[in-house]
Amino acid sequence: MNRYLIPFLALMLLFLSACQNSETAESPATVQLFAMDTVMELSAYGTNADHALALASDRINELDALLSTNQEGSEVYAANNSQGQPIVLSDDTAVLIQKALSVCAMTNGALDISIYPIVKAWGFTTNSYQVPDAKTLSKLLSLVDYSAISLDPNTNTLTLPKGMEIDLGSIAKGYTGDAVTQLLASNGITSAIINLGGNVQTLGTKPDGSLWNVAIQDPKGDDYLGTVAVADKAVITSGGYQRYFVQDGVTYHHIIDPASGYPANNGLISVTIVSGSGTLGDGLSTSLFVMGLDKAIDFWRTHDGFETVLVGDDGTVYVTEGLKDVFTPSAGVNVQIIEKTQSGQ
Ligand code: AMP
Ligand code: MG
Repeated sequence: MNRYLIPFLALMLLFLSACQNSETAESPATVQLFAMDTVMELSAYGTNADHALALASDRINELDALLSTNQEGSEVYAANNSQGQPIVLSDDTAVLIQKALSVCAMTNGALDISIYPIVKAWGFTTNSYQVPDAKTLSKLLSLVDYSAISLDPNTNTLTLPKGMEIDLGSIAKGYTGDAVTQLLASNGITSAIINLGGNVQTLGTKPDGSLWNVAIQDPKGDDYLGTVAVADKAVITSGGYQRYFVQDGVTYHHIIDPASGYPANNGLISVTIVSGSGTLGDGLSTSLFVMGLDKAIDFWRTHDGFETVLVGDDGTVYVTEGLKDVFTPSAGVNVQIIEKTQSGQ
């Protein structure tokens, strides 16, 4: 089956769920496009919505052309072929790399945008999947170190050590979601929902003033494990089920633990972040997946700006307390609320 069909159908369902229940008769303007290797759907309300969505599509294609690892004209491609020489970036690419590096540091390297040589070795960039041998991985791991990336924010000059290659796939869609919602808002839109391949971002409320209901996919099936009701928030999920291959009965997915070079296997099968910032949410969805359950909960307890829904590999759903009143689990889902302060403290 076409590898995009199931995610596409899932997106459509998710969108129906998000857009339904509007009490107004107004229907949204919508646009669908394929960019950043995924199906995207944008919906906006208001008289200027068609025009604003056309601008939003152009903006997405512009960012895709800058940030793609495999388009030869992209700035990321240029960086990855710069042979240790400095290159000057556009504001978008420089700002995104700057923000990504701050998430890499904040998560102590659970996110590492210099992971690209490892992602390539597993075949996730070409769909020619393979399990690299340990020696190859350990050699490539010596190239992975976000702290060796130099970016001068005054001149947008990026210098990567020779051999290092970066991959913004963990965070680019979140940045794009922020850029699109800002663009829609500056074109007079007050109510919109965009779905960038599972990264959902909302602008304002639904036209009737109610919250958007965004469904979170059950990582073990085709259903949803619940919904979150939000306004002005990004809802971003990372899961091993989103891209993987099976070899000799073992499943290998696309989220790599930079500590080992192997797919992260730390007790979580899905992480959803709810945040006012799509960039932060996307960076953290990948990071918390790598950290695993205990470290992810500790990280949430010690950092502000987001809430999370974590799914453990036994199917238990952990919901942080800020979402307690807005998360509605599907029937049969076992939910544990995580409090900011550990009991006994
Ligand atoms: P996401 O779907 O946002 O979790 O991003 C996953 C993508 O980010 C993968 O397909 C890789 O391209 C890239 N990636 C995988 N592991 C990491 C990591 N530990 N740090 C940064 N990027 C990663
Ligand atoms: Mg991410």
